[in-house]
Amino acid sequence: MKDDKIYLSRPHMGGREQEYINDAFAKNWIAPLGDNVNKFEIMLQKYTGAKAALALSSGTAAIHLALIESGVRKNDIVFCSTLTFCASANPILYLQAKPVFIDSELATWNMCPKALEKAFQKYSKMGQKPKAVIVVNLYGQTAQYDEIVALCKAYGVPLIEDAAESLGSSYGNKMSGIIGDFGTLSFNGNKIITTSGGGMLLSHNSKALEHALFLATQARDEAPYYEHSELGYNYRLSNICAGIGLGQLEVLEDRIKARRAIFDRYKENLKSKVLTFQTEITNTKSNRWLTAFLLSNNSNTLTPTTIINKLADNNIEARRVWKPMHMQPLYNKYDYISVDNDNAQSIFERGVCLPSSSDLTLQQQDKVISIVQEIMKATK
Ligand SMILES: *Cc1c(COP(=O)(O)O)cnc(C)c1O
Repeated sequence: MKDDKIYLSRPHMGGREQEYINDAFAKNWIAPLGDNVNKFEIMLQKYTGAKAALALSSGTAAIHLALIESGVRKNDIVFCSTLTFCASANPILYLQAKPVFIDSELATWNMCPKALEKAFQKYSKMGQKPKAVIVVNLYGQTAQYDEIVALCKAYGVPLIEDAAESLGSSYGNKMSGIIGDFGTLSFNGNKIITTSGGGMLLSHNSKALEHALFLATQARDEAPYYEHSELGYNYRLSNICAGIGLGQLEVLEDRIKARRAIFDRYKENLKSKVLTFQTEITNTKSNRWLTAFLLSNNSNTLTPTTIINKLADNNIEARRVWKPMHMQPLYNKYDYISVDNDNAQSIFERGVCLPSSSDLTLQQQDKVISIVQEIMKATK
């Protein structure tokens, strides 16, 4: 059966993935250890410039371990971007710590440095300090890190960069993933490259990653029998999945080029007074994982839902922008800090993510563009 549905972001194999998997079969390394895992870590270390890398079963696991290695324990406070996928925040609750959600700014849609400063001031007045700050790089665009890094340094709080969506993006001369004390990547099926499922924890702190490896492999003490003095997890990436990752890394630059070209084409063809796109701020490069746009405030008839439904009628998958964490039933009892206009909520209410798979053909892009143009004309 031919599947002519246009997906939001689907896996795109490079061609050599199967060879690495076959190699794992030939050596019978069908386990969470083996050559592919080691190579995958070394290659990502080199690519990002991280001192150490730890391959894990998911990006969520990487965030969980980054929080533990930052010293987060029960009842501690963790500042976190509010406009994100739940996986950025859920590990805070795994540890029974308390999230404080921070609003976005309107250029990158990421954590607003002014709101972060306000949060630091508010909590320090109460004699409290967060144990970590989690900053997300939405849809590939990095946050305003000059300000954010300076604030975290001034308050002496570890910064965790959730780079699940921003592998291959950069900020100044740094690759995304190494801007904070810890960086976390995801290789879920919808990300820019995939291992079918997987993640990576990056850091310049090799010691912390050694301990994270210990925790990720059930925290087995050195002893001639099974001895455990700490709570461990089964979080290691399998050698089979790492094989897929090796094949995918060979084509990462092509995938970035393709996604950036798709973004440019959408932007060029949908240019309009009622649409705005995420800004690639000075000194940054986005992998443009997903192309998303905002509708202007003053349109009652042109809404994200009208656009998404119309695209769905044409067998095209589009999505709303993430619903902010502070608006979620699971999280709305926790503190939320904003300086001006609840930007994250506004982005959620006005945002649409367009199909951005790296194998999207020009014809498919044209189909999406012409449908969106039609709706814009009809609702003018
Ligand atoms: C995908 C994603 C994650 C989680 O990664 P998994 O590998 O699916 O666990 C975390 N944060 C953000 C922002 C993501 O988009």
